[in-house]
Amino acid sequence: MEEKAKMKLNQKFAIGIDLGATTVKAGIVSTTGIVVDQISADAKANHGPSAVIQQISFVIQELLGKHKNSNCIGIGIGAPGMVSAVDSFVHHPPNFTDWSRVDVGGEIRKKFKLHVEIENDANCAAVAEARFGVGVEFKNFLFVIWGTGVGGGIILNRKIFRGPNGGAGEIGHVSIDYNGRLCNCGNYGCIESYIGQRYLSQRTKEILRNIPADRTDNHLYKLVGGNLNKIEPSIISQAAELGDPIAISILEEAGTLLGAALASTMNVIDVSVVVIGGGVSAVPAFVYDAVIKSLRSRVLKPHKDNIHVLRAKLGNTAGIIGSASLVM
Ligand SMILES: [Zn+2]
Repeated sequence: MEEKAKMKLNQKFAIGIDLGATTVKAGIVSTTGIVVDQISADAKANHGPSAVIQQISFVIQELLGKHKNSNCIGIGIGAPGMVSAVDSFVHHPPNFTDWSRVDVGGEIRKKFKLHVEIENDANCAAVAEARFGVGVEFKNFLFVIWGTGVGGGIILNRKIFRGPNGGAGEIGHVSIDYNGRLCNCGNYGCIESYIGQRYLSQRTKEILRNIPADRTDNHLYKLVGGNLNKIEPSIISQAAELGDPIAISILEEAGTLLGAALASTMNVIDVSVVVIGGGVSAVPAFVYDAVIKSLRSRVLKPHKDNIHVLRAKLGNTAGIIGSASLVM
């Protein structure tokens, strides 16, 4: 690892920015897709756009201060919300205060006089997997970010498919039940409202609370020391690995539901490879099996034999690597 992280004196690099509602992460990324230096700061998302742009500028400045500026080929930014395909505006990122449309790319370009590109954050992670991750061997795949919500990106012919407004790939809002749970977006039955982190944790808690008998020998219960507020997908995964039947059934069901949403998408865009990243993607392998089984039972015949569902490789650096690769 140490060896990998070293960069030669005259090696070109790009700066990748991964903007989230809580933190802005930034990294120096080599042209081979290795993060050689990393920094993060509070995003100040509740202080309005100029505070956020100031924080982005701050992390860039810090990195440029430590590395040879003439080697920097540009800055790539991954941002939540819809990112315009025609200019570099970021539209309505969720959980950012007083923000309708802001020219984040333009502001950073003005400040640093470097090549700057900006893209939706899920699309950036998809690009990272396509160029340097598990997607390298596939020309076309669907990328899913399974975390607090469910996001995604579509890679066609090794390039991101953005759609005319930059809004393509919203796999989280594929409905699996037209009369189902109300989603934040206003639609009913969106897959996000069944398998997003918050829902999985809440559902597990509900089931545990309703167990009438002695709960103390339950793995989930033991892992959180009886404090059900600590239940989260990583705990559910651990319990499942220990053989806990409740944890297994919740995760298996989540996999089946995700498969249902992916089947509709697969049929529409004719892509049979899925790469799953994001915080919840660290679930045990049997969940991936459940996704595949569900997909196989639902997709149209021509896709059945070609289905691949793979775990993303780049973990939480995918955002930084993908945004950096926008300028490489
Ligand atoms: Zn929705």
